Amino acid sequence: MQDEQSVLNALREELDQIWFIDTHEHLISEEQWLSMQDGLCDFSYLFMQYSLTDTVSAGCSHDDWLKIRNPETPLDEKWQLFEPYWEKTKYTAYCRSMRIAIQDLFELPDLNKDTYRELSARLAAARRPGWYREVLKDRARIEKAVLNTENGSPDPEYFAPVVHLDDFVMAGRLEDLVHCEKQSGVAIHSLDDLVEAMETAFSIGVASGAVGTKCAIAYARTLQFDNPTTAEAEKSFSQIFGHNFNAADSTESFSRDVKPLQDYMMHRLIRMTIDAGLPMQIHTGLQDGNGNYLEHSNPLHLNNIFVFYRNGRFDLFHAGYPFTRELGIMAKMFPGVYADLCWMHVISPSACRRTLDEWLDTVPTGKIFAFGGDYQYVEGAYAHAVLARDNIAKVLASKVSEGDFTIDEARAVAKMIMYDNAKEFFDL
Ligand SMILES: [Zn+2]
Repeated sequence: MQDEQSVLNALREELDQIWFIDTHEHLISEEQWLSMQDGLCDFSYLFMQYSLTDTVSAGCSHDDWLKIRNPETPLDEKWQLFEPYWEKTKYTAYCRSMRIAIQDLFELPDLNKDTYRELSARLAAARRPGWYREVLKDRARIEKAVLNTENGSPDPEYFAPVVHLDDFVMAGRLEDLVHCEKQSGVAIHSLDDLVEAMETAFSIGVASGAVGTKCAIAYARTLQFDNPTTAEAEKSFSQIFGHNFNAADSTESFSRDVKPLQDYMMHRLIRMTIDAGLPMQIHTGLQDGNGNYLEHSNPLHLNNIFVFYRNGRFDLFHAGYPFTRELGIMAKMFPGVYADLCWMHVISPSACRRTLDEWLDTVPTGKIFAFGGDYQYVEGAYAHAVLARDNIAKVLASKVSEGDFTIDEARAVAKMIMYDNAKEFFDL
């Protein structure tokens, strides 16, 4: 039998040739990238998303970060503000992934006092038409990405959109209703109107090519949904909107009053998605940012939904990290539940490898999605794709060396989890 290192080397090379179907991105369009203000596209551009969580966690104040991202701040001053936090954070996986982008795409050894000016200059020079093709297709080998976007119809050469209807599910204030009216063009005076508005917004999304719905409400409330009756939801609607509710009142009684309405709307959203023959993507696990209730996003809260909607198809995001085992076991139990590693390789490559290793034992291979970049900028998606290929190769090499798979089987598994599964699931 070949030793693990030579299997790993062979697999890693082969994985470069396998395209990804990327299950989840937030990427801005190339036009938006090209039209950004110059002062926003310096070295700090690469640190405005996930690694910002670590920068803030390491002590950077909100004011300092605003100064770092302010296009008017001189570049040298930005670096002086950023450097102490960079020293404290540069070894986390979020920051290591940015160092991969710096090395591979901008051909600089690292980010430090000697390179921040040159990196900023090279980022500016990268603002040219064709950069997306070069980074996403030629380098990251991402055939297509499922995109969470507010811009109706993204470029189909790169993206397939999902429609995001959380505003309708979460409506709990008068201004939320106004927003839902604007999004749908439907005037809302009753629960029926709110449902009709959501259905209208959904139809608009489907008409512009949506391949599913996306639910990120675990950022704002628990994923535990009861199944209220229409009468209970109507009562909730009129309690909230029937009098002049004070938007500043965010009390416990408000959460109690609004829950039946939100739960009802979530059930309507799920039914609508299923009736259209589409899957639903659901955020589970770690929430981005520096303050939230982790327990809200435990995928186990969704257990009753999966029992109830046996004909639904659910793509559970972020491996549910740190609840990865719970997620995997639900994907094993329920035919409609799929296990997705999007975002996970840059949160923790090592936890991601352990998760994939275990899921390959427990979850049918056809239900695992191995990659979703989850970045707003293509340089992040590229670095994430590198880490993902490394991780997949390492896990498969260990499976081969332990005698669980032959090398041919490892190749077949890679193709499924990187490409075939998502291609079929989203009908791309
Ligand atoms: Zn995301």
